[in-house]
Amino acid sequence: MRMNTNAAGKPKNTVSQDFLILIVEDDPSIRNLITATLKIHNYAWAKAATAREAIMLSISLKPQLVLLDLGLPDMDGIEVIRNIRSWSNLPIIVISARGSDSDKISALDEGADDYLTKPFSTDELLARIRVTQRRLSSMQDHRTDSNIFINGELTIIFDAAEVLAGSQKIHLTATEYKLLKLLSLNVGKVLTYAMIIKEIWGGNVEMDIVSLRVHMASLRKKLGDSSRQEPFIRTHVGIGYSMTRF
Ligand code: CA
Repeated sequence: MRMNTNAAGKPKNTVSQDFLILIVEDDPSIRNLITATLKIHNYAWAKAATAREAIMLSISLKPQLVLLDLGLPDMDGIEVIRNIRSWSNLPIIVISARGSDSDKISALDEGADDYLTKPFSTDELLARIRVTQRRLSSMQDHRTDSNIFINGELTIIFDAAEVLAGSQKIHLTATEYKLLKLLSLNVGKVLTYAMIIKEIWGGNVEMDIVSLRVHMASLRKKLGDSSRQEPFIRTHVGIGYSMTRF
């Protein structure tokens, strides 16, 4: 029984404890680094060293987040994403070796939420975990009112197709609005060029990537992203875009 409860009977200061993270990594030194970091920060965790184990534990333990290494001994990590996505939307952060953009893109296209590049700092890891936690809690909040999206200074009123940055109304073209809406519905998640192009134009990546960049540059300019300390839209060079979760 949990001792540390407030008057409402809800756990106090134990949010991290309720957040179970499944670490999938076959390299013991990286696995130990991650588990030590999570332990210090009070996260509950479980670990798997193979793809098969990862799939089994995802089903039996129902973690809130999976940290997934792509290079596993028995199967490609991509197969793990495919399997999990066939029955669940649980957040998956891929851990990938430096320089393998095509791996990251495949993982994101299969439904991974974000990626970390090896070697990564523990601060970076913790920041990504916090983003996922905020995203999960905002998804719960938005269930009550799906017409209004509020993220830091950004407000979108979907019914009216109205966008505000602070109190300033932003005038967007139809395509810019579609792009912003798509990113906001996936806030915190990295969307690849191919995913965005398929959603917006339904077309071919090579043909539309230039126009995507043009529309995105114009959208970011209107949102004043270049003068913000933390931009609304983040560019992932060679991969795609994500909306920052504030
Ligand atoms: Ca590995």
